[in-house]
Amino acid sequence: MTTHHTVGIDIGGTSIRAAVVDERGEILDTVRAQTPATAPALEKCLDRLVFDLASRWSVSAVGLAIAGFLTPDCSRVRFSPHLPWREAAVAADMTARIGLPVACEHDANAAAIAERRFGAAAGGRNVVVLAIGTGIGAGLLLDGEIYRGSHGVAPELGHLRVVPSGRLCACGKNGCFERYCSGTALVDNVVELVADGKYPFSQIAREIADDPGSLTGRRVAAGAHDGDPVGLAAFADFAQWLGLGLAMIGDIFDPDLIVLAGGVGASSGLFLDEAREHYGALLTGSGHRRLARIRGTQLGEAAGMIGAAAIARSRVVQVSAS
Ligand SMILES: [Zn+2]
Repeated sequence: MTTHHTVGIDIGGTSIRAAVVDERGEILDTVRAQTPATAPALEKCLDRLVFDLASRWSVSAVGLAIAGFLTPDCSRVRFSPHLPWREAAVAADMTARIGLPVACEHDANAAAIAERRFGAAAGGRNVVVLAIGTGIGAGLLLDGEIYRGSHGVAPELGHLRVVPSGRLCACGKNGCFERYCSGTALVDNVVELVADGKYPFSQIAREIADDPGSLTGRRVAAGAHDGDPVGLAAFADFAQWLGLGLAMIGDIFDPDLIVLAGGVGASSGLFLDEAREHYGALLTGSGHRRLARIRGTQLGEAAGMIGAAAIARSRVVQVSAS
C-alpha cells in the first residue's frame, strides 16, 4: 500500500508553521518561519520550507491553510488582511514552482476538517468550529461537509455585531463578536478593568502600569491560570460574551457540536463551564431542545497544519484513483 505523507502549512500573519503529517493526522516533523511581507518573498519562504521537509521525508502533496477569502473552488486567494496575496492563483503557481500537487483551504475550514477527522469534532454532523486567537476564525460543517456560502466567504461569525456602537473592529465595523471574545479582547478587558482601579494586588495590573503596550492574550491566560484576579475577571467577561455569541450561532444553525480551537480555545478550562451556562441561558427555548455539546480543541494550534495536510492527501488520492 502506498503511504501518503503530506505537508500541511498554516500561514498566519506573523508566522508560518509547516509539518509532515501521516494518514492518521500524526505530525512527524515541523519547521517554521516568520511571515515575509511581500508575495515573492512569501512564496520563496513556502518553497524553502517544503524543500527542507522533503529533504528528510518522502511527501506527495502540499496543503496550505490560509487566513483570507478564497474562491469557492479554493483555486485563488482573493484577499487576506494579513497576507500580501490579492487575486492570486496560489496553488497553481506553487505547483509550477515545486512540482508537487498543492491544495489551498481557508484556515478555519482546515482546522474544522482536522478536528472532525482526528480530534474533538469526531462523529459530529452539524459542527461549528471557532478558532479563537487574535480574532475569531469560523469553520462550519453541515451534514459533515464544509459550508462555504454562495461566494466562498462564509461564515464570518467573528464579525456578528453583538454591541451596536461597541469597540471598533479591524473589519471597519463596531461591536463585532471577536472584539469581545478573542485574545485581543482579553487584553482590552484587562486594560478597562485596571483603569477602574479595582485590582491593586494584581501582578498583571503592575506589569501594564510599567509597560502599557506589553500585554498579550497569552499573558492574560497565564495570569488567570495562576489566579491573578484581573486575569480571572477578564476571562469571566470573555465567557459571558462567548455564551452570548454561541447562543446566536446556535439559534441560526442548531449544531450538535461546537469546538473551541485556536490559541485562546486551548485555555478552555478557564471559561468553558461558564460559557456553557450563558449559552444555555440565552439560547431560544433552551428548556425544550437539545443543546449542542461544547468542547475545547483536541489538536490545539496544530489543527490548521493537520487539516491542510489531510486536504492535500485526499486530493492526491482522488487524483491517483481516477
Ligand atoms: Zn469585525
